[in-house]
Amino acid sequence: MQIQDNLIHIHQQISQACQQTNRLADSVQLLAVSKTKTVQDIQQAINAGQQAFGENYVQEGVEKIQYFAQKGIPLTWHFIGPLQSNKSRLVAEHFDWMQTLDRVKIAERLNKQRPMGKPPLNVLIQINISDENSKAGIQPKEMLGLAKHIENLPHLRLRGLMAIPAPTDNMPQQKMALSAMYVLFEQLKKAFPEQQIDTLSMGMTSDMETAIACGSTMVRIGTAIFGKRHYSTN
Ligand SMILES: *Cc1c(COP(=O)(O)O)cnc(C)c1O
Repeated sequence: MQIQDNLIHIHQQISQACQQTNRLADSVQLLAVSKTKTVQDIQQAINAGQQAFGENYVQEGVEKIQYFAQKGIPLTWHFIGPLQSNKSRLVAEHFDWMQTLDRVKIAERLNKQRPMGKPPLNVLIQINISDENSKAGIQPKEMLGLAKHIENLPHLRLRGLMAIPAPTDNMPQQKMALSAMYVLFEQLKKAFPEQQIDTLSMGMTSDMETAIACGSTMVRIGTAIFGKRHYSTN
């Protein structure tokens, strides 16, 4: 029951990190990142009480969503990978959250493609906070403009921000990026008081505690729950 044990351990780490920074233990949600993992692995996490899962690849994610929907198990699915516009329909139709929104064009497509019977798609704006090599995410100065656009799309619900800071062993540098995200999050909340801006998605297996200390409300954890990922080479 390795996955179950891992989840218990991570919940302990989250509450400790919260305690150390005087935050409530339930102020940080755990998103289980299940990319490349099997439905059996996911089922083990579900048995341990996990309800929210993150997937990076559209097709793989949709297959898992449909598998558990057929079983009648209610889960919440977050899309956390880069999205090409020709795949936006599948995200709009199947996922509950889209965390990597960084373009008006994708926002408009998702809004148009979100099925009528479903609640609005929850979205996070992805900010490119430190990774100069990555094309994913917008620059901080573009945040309010994109948010303004999303505000006018009735089938999307803006919930906050997401970031994948460049990996580094340099603690001050890591903290600087994560703290900069918190400042942007506060700015966004102030600028859109009518919106339910409540989610700052940052922190992975390697920087979870620092991210919580810097104000994260959702950590996205893969390796520490499911073990190392094995990518097929074909
Ligand atoms: C894979 C992935 C994670 C999980 O990373 P781990 O280091 O395995 O915890 C989190 N966020 C995103 C966007 C990812 O692609």
